Amino acid sequence: MSLQSPHLKEFTRDEVAEHCRIDDLWIIIDAKVYDLTKLKAFHPGGLSVLLDEDVAGCDATEAFYSLHRHEVLEKTQTKKLQIGTIRGETSKLHGRISGALSLVPYAEPNWLAPEYHSAYYSENHRQFQKAVRRFIDDVLYDEAQVREESGERPSQAVFDKMAEANMHAMRLGPGKHLAGRKLLNGIVKPEEFDYFHELILMQEFSRISTRGYGDGVVAGMLIGAPPLINFGSAELKARILPDILDGKKFICLAITEAHAGSDVMGLKTTAVKSDDGEHWIINGTKKWITNGTFADYFVVGCKTEDGFTVILVERGDGLNTRPIKTTYSASAGTAYITFEDVQVPVGNTLGEEGGGIFVMLSNFNHERFIMCCSSARTQRLVVEECLKWVTQREAFGKPLHAQAVIRSKLAAMISRAESCQHWLENITYQMCNMSYKQQSRQLALLKSHSTRCAQDTARDAVQVFGGRGVTKTGMGKFIEHDSSGLPSLPPLPLPFHLYKRSSLCLVL
Ligand SMILES: Cc1cc2nc3c(=O)[nH]c(=O)nc-3n(C[C@H](O)[C@H](O)[C@H](O)COP(=O)(O)OP(=O)(O)OC[C@H]3O[C@@H](n4cnc5c(N)ncnc54)[C@H](O)[C@@H]3O)c2cc1C
Repeated sequence: MSLQSPHLKEFTRDEVAEHCRIDDLWIIIDAKVYDLTKLKAFHPGGLSVLLDEDVAGCDATEAFYSLHRHEVLEKTQTKKLQIGTIRGETSKLHGRISGALSLVPYAEPNWLAPEYHSAYYSENHRQFQKAVRRFIDDVLYDEAQVREESGERPSQAVFDKMAEANMHAMRLGPGKHLAGRKLLNGIVKPEEFDYFHELILMQEFSRISTRGYGDGVVAGMLIGAPPLINFGSAELKARILPDILDGKKFICLAITEAHAGSDVMGLKTTAVKSDDGEHWIINGTKKWITNGTFADYFVVGCKTEDGFTVILVERGDGLNTRPIKTTYSASAGTAYITFEDVQVPVGNTLGEEGGGIFVMLSNFNHERFIMCCSSARTQRLVVEECLKWVTQREAFGKPLHAQAVIRSKLAAMISRAESCQHWLENITYQMCNMSYKQQSRQLALLKSHSTRCAQDTARDAVQVFGGRGVTKTGMGKFIEHDSSGLPSLPPLPLPFHLYKRSSLCLVL
């Protein structure tokens, strides 16, 4: 594919070969000619690699791709270095094509491959997948890569575009909150939106492969809005929910404290009724709260006279948030929160006074489902990266995939990704037909299985990538990202807290 720009000249390979000196340095990458004379002082890999006899004045396509991701060529500063093309030749390599399926084997779940059949997905699901992929590629992908690095929260422009397509509402799954909304330009009717649509949405979101940014859009809502939807009063929902679903306001779930994580009932934040009985007065702290730094609403677990009560708190006097540094990007807005005599109307209570544990436990199924979707999809992304790498990388004169031990690792990774996806699809089908209560045991088992598979796959991938598996840029970028924290903390392609909470849920 070649889009010839009018200012680019055409050269022969012999002409390029004449420019092979330190003060006159050209190279060819994929039939494009680059003048690196000025770059040489700034090349991150040093000067000597550019002056290599197989690089200077030569076709350096292979050398380039053994060390860089294709995105390097798409950067504005790299594009400026291109001075021409090779006469009579066309570029064959291209980067991401918006909305396209990957051509790498096993990079997509098999229901998307033309030669496979599926009992679960309708034509509508297929159209939905195409539209969601294009949306995420066009609207989220590039910003995600930049902000994961910079630590900025996702932009309001992205939240607005998501709201226009009703992505926020759809990410909460099927239900009454979708009524009257036009979903992704009307591709699916609200009453026909099912758990397979949600599975597709969650898995397509996972493909951006940026854990902090991914939680930034807006994991807090995924776990914070359901208690409001299921247990809030009609007045509270009417006042608060529309702005949340339209991406104008943000909500988070604030349960954990420095003293109480797994042991939820051990929390120390108190809510005491005011003398007139009209307000709760809240005092205490919360720790590791996703999206807390920018949230407007906080679904807070409190100790009350009757036990444990969940209360919706609006940002205001006495409530302060500050960021906590974690292993993933600050883009997620992970916060430490303090409450000092925060006054909240009693009408903001979610569920029964003293019935908070029921409100929390009822959240778990859906959380687990989200985690299972993202774990299965992230494993597949790792498989894709590994398959590309073992074909590209040569060691001892052979591509890596020529080594039996590498092929064995790949086979194991593929099997794990497949097992998670197929079990997930089966459970999703049951969810479309079972009651919420019936779903819990299967989901807990799948979540445990998926996260363990993810750890094994991350470990194998780091080995397949060697030093690049722990390098934040270049070919191993996504592998490093999905395995950060090894070995003291197992690699978690999932929000950490929910993974950890799963061990508690299994017991429960
Ligand atoms: C990045 C991040 C984001 C988070 N986001 C949120 C959020 O949005 N909202 C929120 O409320 N919380 C959030 N959390 C907190 C998260 O829910 C807690 O970290 C989690 O519940 C575990 O609590 P803990 O960290 O206090 O670990 P602890 O409870 O101290 O546990 C320490 C270890 O002991 C193990 N353990 C504990 N009890 C038992 C037992 N009975 N049997 C066997 N093993 C046990 C645990 O599995 C764990 O491995 C987040 C955490 C992180 C790191």
